[in-house]
Amino acid sequence: MDCIFCKIANGEVPGEFLYRDAKVFAVKDINPQAPIHYLVMPIEHIPSVADLAPERLPIVAELMRVANHLAEKEGISKRGYRLVINCRREGGQAVPHLHMHLLGGRALLGKLG
Ligand code: 5GP
Ligand code: ZN
Repeated sequence: MDCIFCKIANGEVPGEFLYRDAKVFAVKDINPQAPIHYLVMPIEHIPSVADLAPERLPIVAELMRVANHLAEKEGISKRGYRLVINCRREGGQAVPHLHMHLLGGRALLGKLG
């Protein structure tokens, strides 16, 4: 499948894994919007949160668990951070493989949207 995040997940495209387990992995965003800008996503190709069947919703909790873990590890947990999931075109999703952005290391005071 021609999906850049699947290619990173399966090693077709080289990438440094900040975290990896049987279901979830995390990489640095290629175009960071903050000092910490990581992408946390399922290994499985799920296009967006809108494509999640109810029984697959626990994967979102896994993404949040890993994002929280990485925020703690990077020392931004107490200061705070932002978790974002864009969904489909009008939600600003550019890569159709479900992912959660972890943003931090500076004050993110902008309004959403
Ligand atoms: P979206 O707009 O879909 O929520 O976010 C996609 C994110 O993926 C963007 O922040 C973009 O910079 C990042 N991105 C796009 N292509 C690549 C890539 O090949 N590698 C990495 N690490 N990030 C990417
Ligand atoms: Zn994919």
